[in-house]
Amino acid sequence: LDTPLFAGLPGDIRVSFEFFPPKTDALMAQLWDVVETLAPLRPEFVSVTYGAGGSTRDRTHDTVARIIREARLPAAAHLTCVDATKDEIRAVAEAYWEAGVRHIVALRGDMGAPGVPFTPHPQGYANAAELVAGLKAIAPFDISVAAYPECHPDSASVEADIDNLKRKIDAGASRAISQFFFEPETFFRFQDRLAAAGIDAPVLPGILPVSNFAQTRKFAAACGAALPQWLESLFSGLDKHPASRQLVAATVSAEFCRRLYAGGVRDFHFYTLNRAELSYAICHLLGRRPQGETPQENAA
Ligand code: FAD
Repeated sequence: LDTPLFAGLPGDIRVSFEFFPPKTDALMAQLWDVVETLAPLRPEFVSVTYGAGGSTRDRTHDTVARIIREARLPAAAHLTCVDATKDEIRAVAEAYWEAGVRHIVALRGDMGAPGVPFTPHPQGYANAAELVAGLKAIAPFDISVAAYPECHPDSASVEADIDNLKRKIDAGASRAISQFFFEPETFFRFQDRLAAAGIDAPVLPGILPVSNFAQTRKFAAACGAALPQWLESLFSGLDKHPASRQLVAATVSAEFCRRLYAGGVRDFHFYTLNRAELSYAICHLLGRRPQGETPQENAA
């Protein structure tokens, strides 16, 4: 943190990018531009979300399969078990395996209506830990799971939430991806709790580059992430100044990631919302360049 802003950062980071499956051909074309922009940054993987209760099943499948086939990027498919039987999950997982998908982000998911408590399907998996074990029995997938630096809202306690994450790792997940958060300290405290619980699988911080504050407020309310007052103040008064808002967004997100980097974080998972600019700019500031263009290679 004492070093001059971003000076000399060598780009020794690993990045991954999350997309959602587009609804129309026009939006697919837009996502493809984003994929092509971000691909040269050589992400460890990209992932594609699964709409509530499987509502995007085919679109998620088609998007992931296309990314693997045409962009030749390692792509992970999200899969939720809410509202699905074990047989349905098996069919989806087998179709992924056949399409060359080897990495699944295994999630419980939420009930359709907000605030309705989760009830497992009578013939389904009761939670993500069971889903991980079920998927591992179907094929040797690489599996990621969700982690919650500010605790999942359904969790009885912080300890119970960490125990749940441990069950998911013990069931066969090789890494976790965190819910987004807005204070670097939140993640550092979470890392301390993970270490104390003996969890040594990598936990990638989920980065939500904020550009639309109203939308961010909605996302944060839905998942229980604390929205700091300073963030709201930074965006207030910019509704009619979209260009300035983008500059503020870039500054805030970049400073957030720089502080994570200064605290030892080297993995960054970006919730891109199917846009490339902010994620690309942050990667650039952290020294990540397209293949053959790292700061050291340029200096040589
Ligand atoms: P779980 O790990 O099963 O846990 C949920 C809660 O239940 C925790 O509080 C846990 O402590 C508690 N719990 C679980 N098992 C037990 C038990 N045996 N006894 C007591 N308590 C228990 N949603 C989508 O619909 N589609 C997506 O593509 C998607 N992608 C996501 C990606 C990431 C990186 C993250 C962080 C979330 C994502 N979500 C997605 C949201 C996710 O589905 C919700 O957060 C959901 O509420 C919990 O899913 P989980 O896999 O964490 O559940």
